[in-house]
Amino acid sequence: MAQPVSANIRAAEGFNTCELCSRRSGKGWSFAFKKPVTEGDANAGEIIKCSRCAIRHRPMVRRSLLVALTVGTVLTLLNQGDILFAGEWKSAMYWKIPLTYCVPFLVATYGALTNSRR
Ligand SMILES: [Zn+2]
Repeated sequence: MAQPVSANIRAAEGFNTCELCSRRSGKGWSFAFKKPVTEGDANAGEIIKCSRCAIRHRPMVRRSLLVALTVGTVLTLLNQGDILFAGEWKSAMYWKIPLTYCVPFLVATYGALTNSRR
């Protein structure tokens, strides 16, 4: 049985291995997230994920959705509030309002991935 390779050795070799799917990813394309500390774990407190697994990291997605809900609602009220409260619904709002929620989601996700990049 192979011994787990420490994060320092992996970084020195120029690649990281995803702990979920075992896919290798180069420098800048692997991401480290906090994980619950367990005894005897060489990489205690940190889990390395490839980009495909990182964009599905549940705590990050949950936090981004919360940011999108909060910021998107405020921006929608600021930008479209007068039209909404007047009772008018223009066809352009079918794409404007969803986009207003998408922007903070993407910004929060991009920020989280940038901060966790290895
Ligand atoms: Zn992966």
